[in-house]
Amino acid sequence: MSDNSKYHQHYDVIVIGGGHAGTEAALAAARMGSQTLLLTHNMETLGQMSCNPAIGGIGKGHLVKEIDALGGAMATAADHAGIQFRTLNSSKGPAVRATRAQADRQLYRAAIRSILENQPNLSLFQQACDDLIVEQDRVVGVVTQMGLKFSATTVVLTVGTFLGGVIHIGLDNYQGGRAGDPPANALSKRLRELPLRVDRLKTGTPPRIDAKTIDFSALQEQPGDQPTPIFSFMGKQSDHPQQISCYITHTSEKTHKIIRSGLDRSPMYSGVIEGVGPRYCPSIEDKVMRFADKNSHQIFVEPEGLTTQEVYPNGISTSLPFDVQVELVRSIKGFENAHITRPGYAIEYDYFDPRDLKQTLETKYIQGLFFAGQINGTTGYEEAGAQGLVAGANAALQVQGKEGWAPRRDQAYMGVLIDDLSTLGTKEPYRMFTSRAEYRLLLREDNADMRLTEQGRELGLVDDARWARFNEKIEGIAQEQQRLRSTWIYPHHAAAEAVNTLVKTPIAREVNVEELLRRPEVTYDALMSVPELGPGLTDQQAAEQIEIQTKYAGYIVRQQDEIAKQLRHENTRLPLNFDYKSIKGLSNEVIAKLNEHQPETVGKAARISGITPAAISMLLVHLKKQG
Ligand code: FAD
Repeated sequence: MSDNSKYHQHYDVIVIGGGHAGTEAALAAARMGSQTLLLTHNMETLGQMSCNPAIGGIGKGHLVKEIDALGGAMATAADHAGIQFRTLNSSKGPAVRATRAQADRQLYRAAIRSILENQPNLSLFQQACDDLIVEQDRVVGVVTQMGLKFSATTVVLTVGTFLGGVIHIGLDNYQGGRAGDPPANALSKRLRELPLRVDRLKTGTPPRIDAKTIDFSALQEQPGDQPTPIFSFMGKQSDHPQQISCYITHTSEKTHKIIRSGLDRSPMYSGVIEGVGPRYCPSIEDKVMRFADKNSHQIFVEPEGLTTQEVYPNGISTSLPFDVQVELVRSIKGFENAHITRPGYAIEYDYFDPRDLKQTLETKYIQGLFFAGQINGTTGYEEAGAQGLVAGANAALQVQGKEGWAPRRDQAYMGVLIDDLSTLGTKEPYRMFTSRAEYRLLLREDNADMRLTEQGRELGLVDDARWARFNEKIEGIAQEQQRLRSTWIYPHHAAAEAVNTLVKTPIAREVNVEELLRRPEVTYDALMSVPELGPGLTDQQAAEQIEIQTKYAGYIVRQQDEIAKQLRHENTRLPLNFDYKSIKGLSNEVIAKLNEHQPETVGKAARISGITPAAISMLLVHLKKQG
């Protein structure tokens, strides 16, 4: 018998779970110089995509770029694993444009594992974590399944859908963290003993199909964009592997009839599943019931990789019984002879009320314990990665004895995400949308580095190479802006003749190039093609900034003014564990809400629904009296 007590190791930061949150948390802490341990069930599943093999999309792509701007791994891994890239909303304004990459699942895992294995200050260890060691409201270590104890200054928990996970296929169910993986039951039981609010959520995934059994000639082909978009600010086109197409098909009336006939054996519709599912990523049975007037739903047929025949039919997530799944799949155009390689399923799991977290993602009541990812009620790799990075950075800051850090709502989608969660909580799996951000013109994908890289450098998250590249870019932008401002065009000059072919109204007086670029019909590239004005910047990222910053300058300044006004009381702190009954004049409803939410700051209090401006004034008066 081995004596595990002899093996004792201390780490500054221990991260539990090697999914998307855990990866970014461990890398962030290690980049900041903390001796970090990533403890995970299975080294082979580091960076595993539990569901759709794709990174990015609207709102989510913004998070990926922000993670990248702070030195994280997700964008780089997506660049090395992406097999079909697109810019969504490319014809719309820059605020809502978003990058999406279909990924080769194996290449993505390999890229993440390589980044993790080569990160200084980071050790990996394969074991389930069964217990946390908590002493006087402070976490001091963890215990693994085989009884090994690791002590730690801080612990970041990123265990995804694994806590008390139950997998459902029809009326059959069994325990699991996701298909093929064990649940984390011992840890779930232990966490339920802590003073944190816990509930159940559910999510689902579609059956996978063997490409050899699909009739692709019946489907509509969807190639990626050319040139292929690049995710990382440090990335380049040559990082991408071979590019291939996705396809589109649709469900039919027949499909919907099959689904309706199977509902009596659906775990969702027969009441077996109690957890709430993702509203914006519903199962096909949900879509058929909720949108009964629609006789067809779109399905994206997405390859799972370059070297596998498995295909992910995006849009038919289901937990119907397997016999119904086979029938419904085969009722879809092109899938008539389809062979299912893996059944679709739903999973129910524990999540913790994120209102019990500080903005740093540290739990309010157990010091040194941070939560990130699906455990906080979110869904999606990008949402998980973003939280992981913030939690890992704060775990490292606490080790250094420094103040915590979190981006504000006007600085990053990460800030919106964490503020929404920790202020308002969530009753359904939370996913990011651009509509959640009030300052979305400022929070664009293209300027994520301008918003965050400097802060990342200060925190120790950004390495020398990224910092040098960033500085080169902003210097290039500043110099070029200065050049455009001081380059004048006069009506009868040769340059004016060329420019007049680009503009709606010919030049009638002297103008500088910056002013010309403000005209909606004019692009930077077109102006730079005029011999007297060009060739301009060769750095595409910098050129894009020049164009966006010039064209949207008026709107951007207005949003910045609004933010400055809002910020006055944003960071004024409120006490925790406080009974708001003691403040005179607050209504019972306001008292109940504030007591329930225990907001950390006045800014957060103002965002709770039902907290009126008058109530905020009373809080401010009270704080002033307290001195
Ligand atoms: P995970 O990626 O789940 O990683 C958790 C990690 O923790 C795993 O490596 C696990 O092995 C490890 N772990 C767990 N417990 C322990 C323990 N006790 N000790 C050690 N290690 C442990 N997202 C979408 O955006 N859209 C969808 O449609 C969608 N559908 C989904 C369907 C299914 C069936 C599942 C399972 C997930 C789905 N997701 C979907 C969610 C997406 O997979 C997650 O949001 C994302 O993976 C969360 O990342 P995470 O890092 O929090 O957790």
